[in-house]
Amino acid sequence: ISKLLNAEIFEQMGDEALNTSKWQDKALPALVVFNIDHFHRMNTAFGIGGGNRIISAFGDLLTRTLPADTLITRLHSDHFVALFPSNRSHFDISKHVDKIRQQLSRPIKTPSESASITVSAGIDLIEDNDRNVRNSIIRAEHAAHKAQELGRDCFCFYRPELSESTAQLIRVSAELREATNANEIKNAYQPIIRATDRTISAVEVLARWHHPVDGILRPATFMPVAEQTGLIPALTAAVIENIGDDFSLLSVKLNSGALCLNISSIMFKEDDFADKLLASFDDLYIPRQKLIVEITESTLMADMARGLQAINTLRDGKVKVVLDHFGHGRSSYSYLGQINVDGIKLDRIFTDDIEHSTHKRTLTKSIVSAARELGIATFVEGVESKEQAEVLCEIGCDYLQGYYFARPALLEEIDRNKDWEKFL
Ligand code: C2E
Ligand code: CA
Ligand code: CA
Repeated sequence: ISKLLNAEIFEQMGDEALNTSKWQDKALPALVVFNIDHFHRMNTAFGIGGGNRIISAFGDLLTRTLPADTLITRLHSDHFVALFPSNRSHFDISKHVDKIRQQLSRPIKTPSESASITVSAGIDLIEDNDRNVRNSIIRAEHAAHKAQELGRDCFCFYRPELSESTAQLIRVSAELREATNANEIKNAYQPIIRATDRTISAVEVLARWHHPVDGILRPATFMPVAEQTGLIPALTAAVIENIGDDFSLLSVKLNSGALCLNISSIMFKEDDFADKLLASFDDLYIPRQKLIVEITESTLMADMARGLQAINTLRDGKVKVVLDHFGHGRSSYSYLGQINVDGIKLDRIFTDDIEHSTHKRTLTKSIVSAARELGIATFVEGVESKEQAEVLCEIGCDYLQGYYFARPALLEEIDRNKDWEKFL
């Protein structure tokens, strides 16, 4: 009988099955990604425990319904993958996927929940010349995404023209996976300045990829790849490892300032992510009081229940939490009083041109004073000029960051960097 495998074993067994000779003739192995639609609503409706029970009931449904030689795993929270090594045609695989959808026409039952769910599925038919599970997952995810765009509760086949850049994505993803193992990910640090006395109060940790051919790459070039190909956890681990290497020297230079770490909300998909993060810093003997975690405000909204749980765990563990890119989404202001955070970092859009815009000054002032009333610190970033810095200080922002004060620099550059001189 098929059963849920762990992801690593799935990949191993999958590659093996794909490369076994008996599939060479007339077989058209297929890989399917199943995404539960709007899964975060389950967490909202039933709590995280209930959400997890529904997920595992869906896993049971897959193993019960699909052919016995199907390999099945859970990729992350609400994404499942099934590999059909002995599939023979388009029609075959469509039938299997439809069978799952048919089963879902009745609510999924757990001992305590009954939930109606739908799935968006992506199907990749695996070609002879690329019998590789990992690559196939990337293609199937693309197709599943397409199914979502088509309105969910349906399935799509991967077709190369779905995304011209898939080949490129696969290539960069493989390189990036290597990079996280090969110490090609380095940390740059950018000072965050206290408004009252203009001294350095913290540094933001920013990932850089020292690519052997393309040189130093900024996150804009590789973060989207990491997000789409499941590499965010590996990347985060690499950044934390670097912090461990840099910490003692860095804290001497910074005179014991704090570290701001960007954490992608993709990390929340792991249930015990916050506990693991705390543990990884304990292992490095870095005092938790020195840590500030930056979480992007708009992505937090996507799965509020999980996000809030992670935030609470971090704060109970003495780590501070700041909402990044605050005010970029639509919602922000209204729930400021509902989420317990230590600070907000206003989106760069507020800083840009603030010296010439009365409107922006008024808006910023009202956010800053609302935050102050709630005991929440305000950070601003993207400060590029003396005028902007002055306006923002006058408005009452607590912390400032931007090229005007200093650009991000690697640890070994800090001593040679003119910007940094004045803070060391
Ligand atoms: P972010 O959190 O908004 O980080 C600030 C970005 O603004 C950085 O870009 C920084 O170099 C840039 N910046 C700083 N001061 C100025 C300024 O005065 N003017 C302008 N125009 N830009 C300024 P960077 O380093 O390219 O990082 C881009 C984004 O990548 C970050 O945006 C962050 O969301 C993400 N990122 C970086 N490192 C990590 C990481 O380790 N993990 C995760 N999950 N995300 C990361
Ligand atoms: Ca940030
Ligand atoms: Ca930011």
